[in-house]
Amino acid sequence: MGGVSARLEDLPLRDDLRGQRPYGAPQAPLPVALNVNENTHPVPQEVADDILDSLAIALREVNRYPDREFTALREGFADYLGFGLTRDQIWAANGSNEVLQHILQAFAGPGRTAFGFAPTYSMYPLLTRGTGATWIAGARAHDFTLTPESAASQISDAEPDVVFLCAPNNPTGTPMSLDVIDAVYEASRGIVVVDEAYQEFAPHGEVSALSLLPGRERLVVSRTMSKAFAFAGARVGYLAADPAVIDALRLVRLPYHLSALTQAAATAALRHASTMLRMVDEIVTQRDRISATLSALGYDPHESWTNFVLFGGVADPAATWQGLYDEGVLIRDVGIPHHLRVTAGTEAETTAFLDALASVDSRT
Ligand SMILES: *Cc1c(COP(=O)(O)O)cnc(C)c1O
Repeated sequence: MGGVSARLEDLPLRDDLRGQRPYGAPQAPLPVALNVNENTHPVPQEVADDILDSLAIALREVNRYPDREFTALREGFADYLGFGLTRDQIWAANGSNEVLQHILQAFAGPGRTAFGFAPTYSMYPLLTRGTGATWIAGARAHDFTLTPESAASQISDAEPDVVFLCAPNNPTGTPMSLDVIDAVYEASRGIVVVDEAYQEFAPHGEVSALSLLPGRERLVVSRTMSKAFAFAGARVGYLAADPAVIDALRLVRLPYHLSALTQAAATAALRHASTMLRMVDEIVTQRDRISATLSALGYDPHESWTNFVLFGGVADPAATWQGLYDEGVLIRDVGIPHHLRVTAGTEAETTAFLDALASVDSRT
């Protein structure tokens, strides 16, 4: 390739995209990567073998378009989620990011607004702006918690078309009670999305927002196979909602958006849900070990119901991040002053992080 490349400013780009930055968590080939909340345990061999068999069968028909309604996969998700859900209440796409984008395309878009309680998942504003809608950031208490009263009054004031409730919240790990979700639903007239990307890491017996679905036709509960299911590379996310919401999403999806290979792989993985999820308890053990060790080192970890820990008490996050990087450990600076976020890895990865942190001394 020769010639001079154009600059972004010179292109006839949409005005509302000028000056925007793309999602950019660093992807560096370090030995210990604990920066994007992946499940660092590989897919168990027996499951990988079954997925391969399913892929081989799907490949024989890959000359044809896939099942546009991904019926078998929706049935698989309905069975996995329980709560009496049926496939007409399930939607899926290439990662829950695409699922959330479908919601925004159908219910937000130009002239409309989407709302979240900051700090929260960095993709919400990006996806919102991508559809031409306006992002509104609400506030949390100092410890990142939310009361039903505060949440409801902020929603009544903002009157958003779409609300994102990240439960538990990324990047803080903070749990969200069903009371807050119900209060937000009652205070809003728009779509309320509860993003349960980390639900499987919550304490056993904690009830999902799926229990709130009956009678709440504007409520949506989204999940992903990227975290607990160790399936981030396959790109599969899904949601449960009223069948009318699913009909709305059909208006905006690309035809055949889930490839035959994705459908086959995800359907096979779901048949082995309990094996796929077997590392969750081990990851939770490592998460709690991180929190306890960080406290002992004098840092300030926040309560987490996820597979990661946000910790404060970091004098210079950029310097500590770089110090860990130089030791071969990649974590995340999420831009909260004096804080860093680390994903719970395998026992060995977690040890590598904790040892490296102890040697990089930059506490306040
Ligand atoms: C990781 C994450 C997702 C998952 O995204 P995928 O597109 O399914 O990989 C969704 N929501 C939150 C809050 C996350 O942290």
